[in-house]
Amino acid sequence: MLDIVTYGHEALAKKATALGEFGPDIPAFVEEMYETMIKGHGIGLAAPQVNRDLRVFVTGLDGDKLRVFINPEIVATSPEEADYEEGCLSLPGLYTHLTRPAIVKIQAWNEKGRPFTLEADGLLARVILHENDHLDGVLFIDRLNPSKRDRALAQYLRKSRI
Ligand code: ZN
Repeated sequence: MLDIVTYGHEALAKKATALGEFGPDIPAFVEEMYETMIKGHGIGLAAPQVNRDLRVFVTGLDGDKLRVFINPEIVATSPEEADYEEGCLSLPGLYTHLTRPAIVKIQAWNEKGRPFTLEADGLLARVILHENDHLDGVLFIDRLNPSKRDRALAQYLRKSRI
C-alpha cells in the first residue's frame, strides 16, 4: 500500500516524467497502485498522487477490469461534453460538478509494455481525463472557473482542518 499525498504536496503540481524503460519493477508498482486505489475506495489513481514522478495511472470502475495507462496520450476528445460530480483521493471529502468532453480516445502502454488504443465514454472517459490531468500537475478544481475554484478550495481547507 502506497501513501497518497494530498493537496499542497509539490508532486501534485508538476508535470510528471515519461517512463523511459519498462523495468522489472513496473508490474509490481502497477499492482501497488491498484491496491492503493482499491483500499482508498477510489476509481482512479495517478502516480504523482503516490509521489512517483511517472506518467502512469490506473482505473478501477465497478464492472470494469483494472486498467493501467503508461505514458498515455490523449488522441482525441469529443466536442460533446458531459457533467459529473468529481472527487479526488488527493482532495478527500471534496466533490464538485465539472464539465468535460464526453468521449475520449487515448493511446498508452500496459504493464507488459504493449501499446493499446482505447475509446471510452461515460464514467471511464471522465476518470481517464481526470487522471491524465494529474500527469500534467492539473487537479480537477483547476478546471473550475476561478471563483468556483476558490469556493471549492476554501470548503476543502475548512474541512481538512477539522
Ligand atoms: Zn485525482
